[in-house]
Amino acid sequence: MRVHVADHPLIAHKLTYLRDKRTDSPTFRRLAEELVTLLAYEATRDVRTEPIDIETPVAPTTGVKLSTPKPLVVPILRAGLGMLEGMVRLLPSAEVGFLGMQRNEETLEAITYANRLPDDLAGRQCYVVDPMLATGGTLAMTIRYLADRGADDITAVTLLATPEGIAHLETELADLDIPIQIVTGAMDERLNEKGYIVPGLGDAGDRLYGVV
Ligand code: URA
Repeated sequence: MRVHVADHPLIAHKLTYLRDKRTDSPTFRRLAEELVTLLAYEATRDVRTEPIDIETPVAPTTGVKLSTPKPLVVPILRAGLGMLEGMVRLLPSAEVGFLGMQRNEETLEAITYANRLPDDLAGRQCYVVDPMLATGGTLAMTIRYLADRGADDITAVTLLATPEGIAHLETELADLDIPIQIVTGAMDERLNEKGYIVPGLGDAGDRLYGVV
């Protein structure tokens, strides 16, 4: 598994405002979207392309276009929805599948409550988006789910991650023989006893959409 922590002053600047508890939901949503677009640029470095012949006004040339099957973007509901727009802005021809996962606040284990994904993902590159890689439980389940259906290259894009979450993924996914990449805006210090990222930004879903 490859882990890429973005090292860019613009990302650090936007993350600082995202973390600030005084930032309201509309601003939080806008910042999350902008951050994803920056992270998506890094995350799609290995997106598959194929050659295409075109003619410029001056001469024929060979360019590239995204390969078929198109990549699949998978936001994990609910907080991942806040990252979808920024991701498909960079990959407008990608297809989108949805996975609803929720963690039990006592056991911190993830359960699936919604699924709108193709059954057959053979040969698909998948981009999972979820703002918080905390315990890694949800992401590990999601990556395994996609790999079991044939996805052969999986990248997760998160705003924040923890060393504990990365270690959990390394252990849980050690048997998967496909490229797996994590691209994150920052590696935070740790998880607290309630499973929140420290310093983090609080509950990403609540901050995006208000408390329900
Ligand atoms: N999920 C969140 O929304 N925030 C955290 O800090 C951890 C998990």
